Amino acid sequence: MKQEKDILIIGGGPIGIACALECKKRNLDYVVLEKGALTNSLFNYPLNMSFFSTSEKLEIDHIPFISTNPKPNRNEALEYYRRVATSNTLAINLYEEVLSITKASDVFLVNSNKQEYRAKKVVIATGFYDLPKLLNVPGEDLPKVSHYYKEAHPYTLQNVIIVGASNSAVDAALEIWQKGGHVTMVVRGEAIGERVKYWVRPNIINRIKEGSIKAYFNSEISEIKDQEVIIKTPDGTEKINNDFVLALTGYQPNFSFIKNANIKFTEDERHLPIYNEVSMETNIEGLYLAGVICGGKETHKWFIENSRIHAERIANHINQTLTE
Ligand SMILES: Cc1cc2nc3c(=O)[nH]c(=O)nc-3n(C[C@H](O)[C@H](O)[C@H](O)COP(=O)(O)OP(=O)(O)OC[C@H]3O[C@@H](n4cnc5c(N)ncnc54)[C@H](O)[C@@H]3O)c2cc1C
Repeated sequence: MKQEKDILIIGGGPIGIACALECKKRNLDYVVLEKGALTNSLFNYPLNMSFFSTSEKLEIDHIPFISTNPKPNRNEALEYYRRVATSNTLAINLYEEVLSITKASDVFLVNSNKQEYRAKKVVIATGFYDLPKLLNVPGEDLPKVSHYYKEAHPYTLQNVIIVGASNSAVDAALEIWQKGGHVTMVVRGEAIGERVKYWVRPNIINRIKEGSIKAYFNSEISEIKDQEVIIKTPDGTEKINNDFVLALTGYQPNFSFIKNANIKFTEDERHLPIYNEVSMETNIEGLYLAGVICGGKETHKWFIENSRIHAERIANHINQTLTE
């Protein structure tokens, strides 16, 4: 039997939870469908990561986020969003993945891996952390290659290549080096990323200068083999011994999921979904986007700090249109 709901919120990340809070405040009939654990992306972050935002900037619905650190860490954020969700008894179905969204006249038919829903409005807040940007080189599917980094311990005394030069890559490089791993960074550009946290950037630059961490700039991996990796550098091809590759080159939204819902995108390489900036409604009436997914391929554009406002905009618009 089909479940009937006024509003389906897809994704139980910080912004999906913020949307649920705003719906609850307005007594709207909603449910959040989350394919993994609560705040699944944050759950999968490196164990020792800290946010670049202060805790107040990660708060939703003005609920205080108390941290004793200048920047909160993953565990504190998990604790915060969990307490917000549970103490407000938000309606959230975990481990329920949405597979498709179809609009039939003025109702949405939504299929999950567990059941079918009919909904008047749908909010997509699915983030971008599930799909890594691939290197597309031979050997990328070897078990020693990962696109996610969790903690340093497995890499102690190992030859580790880290691909990328953004926050994730730099944090992993420093942590693994501190725990006794032999780290080589392979960086496509000519320097460590400009957006790397300002208090971390000098550290990595100095470790590279002193030779503690080796880095190849303007370089790319061309092949990954069981015990070595081939790197194309400006000075020719290098073959280096290798035990593990961490390809931390970023992530991207699930474009086919949103395309299948008939949401339109800009036709340039940014692939920005088209939506109304006041209501967050897409070209499909009643279908909204919230959170970091709004940035398309520009995944640095939206984050919790500046996208938490989407929740209120969407709930206001839904409230107004449901009662018209
Ligand atoms: C390492 C790292 C550090 C960061 N630090 C900061 C920071 O300091 N400050 C800041 O503001 N931002 C930061 N960000 C960005 C921000 O934390 C994340 O992008 C944030 O999680 C975005 O929230 P969201 O709710 O839009 O998306 P997400 O948190 O990614 O939530 C999306 C949810 O949707 C679920 N989902 C996906 N597809 C489906 C489906 N088909 N069906 C059901 N559920 C689905 C996912 O499992 C996930 O739980 C950081 C990001 C990273 C990667």
